[in-house]
Amino acid sequence: MVMETLWQISQKINIDPRRILSNEPMSRHTTFHIGGPADVFLSVVSLNELSAALSYFREQGIPCFILGGGSNLLVGDRGIRGAVIDLSGMRGCASIGTVIRAQAGCSVEALCEEALARGLGGLENFYGLPGTAGGALFMNARCYERDISAPVQTITAMSLEGIIRTIPRSELHWDYKKSPFQPGQALDGWIILSADFQLSPADAGAVASVMRMRKTDRTMKGHYRYPSAGSLFKNNRAFGKPTGAILESLGLKGYRIGDAGIAPFHANIFINYGKASARDMLRLIQTAQDKARQNLGIDLEPEVLMVGEF
Ligand SMILES: Cc1cc2nc3c(=O)[nH]c(=O)nc-3n(C[C@H](O)[C@H](O)[C@H](O)COP(=O)(O)OP(=O)(O)OC[C@H]3O[C@@H](n4cnc5c(N)ncnc54)[C@H](O)[C@@H]3O)c2cc1C
Repeated sequence: MVMETLWQISQKINIDPRRILSNEPMSRHTTFHIGGPADVFLSVVSLNELSAALSYFREQGIPCFILGGGSNLLVGDRGIRGAVIDLSGMRGCASIGTVIRAQAGCSVEALCEEALARGLGGLENFYGLPGTAGGALFMNARCYERDISAPVQTITAMSLEGIIRTIPRSELHWDYKKSPFQPGQALDGWIILSADFQLSPADAGAVASVMRMRKTDRTMKGHYRYPSAGSLFKNNRAFGKPTGAILESLGLKGYRIGDAGIAPFHANIFINYGKASARDMLRLIQTAQDKARQNLGIDLEPEVLMVGEF
């Protein structure tokens, strides 16, 4: 794609041309620091820009991928065909009484800090979780035995056709690491624009103390030591123990293919030692799955999403 075309797109969408890029390496936008180029990469800061971008790409028949904080993605070395729309610039967050309304691109950290500033409890377990509110809701992120969906009151979302709806909690069905926005679910394809979290008044000192504890615990466990996407596989109660313990029992802790490694400090965290390719990471994932299947007869399901061309 040539720059003039990008400039023309920016005029049609009415977006600052500096926020639309071609062949943008996705390694710059994922916490794994892995991933080839997106054909077009667009950072939007408002609902108007998002709507205009979606309708433009729909008319052109160009597929769009919605990006939050890129903290749960393994993007292929050949990158993403079509457009990546980065929502992390739509980051507003405000409270009305005990309800906090967060735009999709608001970081989970900023959301937790807003709750603390208002003396509200219910989100403190999520302090230290990388990524955005929208991505966390799409994934139904779970931290310290609590799902991010637990305090959700409503979600405002937009369909691919541009219809905007505020959906009440009663119509939103969640499960362990499952949200209604995932493929095959009721709101598959809808884009989360904002969410209202119903919280409860709490002692700010107590909220701050839990937040600090959670962040320190993650730091001590090595979560931020290397580029990663957090836990690679889901846990499954039927397996009788956490996936990390299963992988450790298979002798995989510290196992490495190129610069892709299974962390020596936590066997369910796969890390990039520096120059890991998506292909190496994928081979490492498959090696772990094969070993678990052959030795224990179990199928490990990745939690990290594979996106683009490998
Ligand atoms: C160090 C580390 C620790 C982690 N710890 C945990 C943990 O304790 N618990 C846990 O559950 N996860 C954990 N994760 C994984 C990850 O942080 C979460 O899944 C996070 O909530 C993903 O949010 P994101 O904004 O980065 O989403 P992304 O990775 O950008 O996207 C994930 C998916 O959500 C979709 N999406 C994003 N925004 C929207 C939107 N607005 N509307 C519709 N779809 C959207 C994307 O298209 C994609 O399919 C960890 C990751 C890291 C790196």
